Amino acid sequence: MSELNLILLGPPGAGKGTQAQRLIKDWDLPHISTGDLLRDHRERATELGQQAGKYMSEGKLVPDDLVIAMIFEKIEQQGDDGFLLDGFPRTIAQADALGDELDKRGRRLTAVLLIDAPDEEVIGRLSGRRVCSDGHVYHVDNDPPKHPDVCDQDGKPLRQRDDDKPEVIQRRLDTYHEQTKPLIEYYEEQGVLRAFDGSRAPGEVHDHIRATLATLRLEERL
Ligand code: AMP
Repeated sequence: MSELNLILLGPPGAGKGTQAQRLIKDWDLPHISTGDLLRDHRERATELGQQAGKYMSEGKLVPDDLVIAMIFEKIEQQGDDGFLLDGFPRTIAQADALGDELDKRGRRLTAVLLIDAPDEEVIGRLSGRRVCSDGHVYHVDNDPPKHPDVCDQDGKPLRQRDDDKPEVIQRRLDTYHEQTKPLIEYYEEQGVLRAFDGSRAPGEVHDHIRATLATLRLEERL
């Protein structure tokens, strides 16, 4: 069967991370999240982490050349068993660079999964989001941990991401609308965009994505 090369696109807080966790289990795909990779660099205080940190804490995008170099290295390491990109590309320049790289390697995108949700919805989700250092995610109202501020899965303390503070959330949304949203049309023109309603319950969104991917795979075999 041919490899599944997927991109998750959508505003911050629409549920890309949640769907990614489910999809990598369904299809046994490597999950490549630029946000997670950059946070890891920042924590380890690598040169890239130090350069990226100031953009991240302000809700701005890290410069394209830094992110592109980081992600290509990761895709290369993963080999050609498919991938699920989460949070990349976020600009047209990143999308062009990815397209060129895949062409060079004779690979192609299977689908770009757009998980969309209105601004009011994502503001509510992001401001209530709490995470542990291993990346398990909760919401103070919609998905609270059993004990306040403690991760159910590993007992680690939960905290709010710096960029989930209200003033930064608005900046991240503005950045999404200005720089990332044009990718919807970009991938629509390539015929690979599939859209999902991120304001629905995570299980429903997941079912819908799974059905869409199953159909795509069937079509590929015809
Ligand atoms: P995320 O966890 O995907 O919301 O990403 C957190 C932050 O990392 C973003 O607000 C950006 O500062 C940075 N970042 C993540 N992915 C990218 C990307 N593809 N291009 C530029 N900056 C990124």
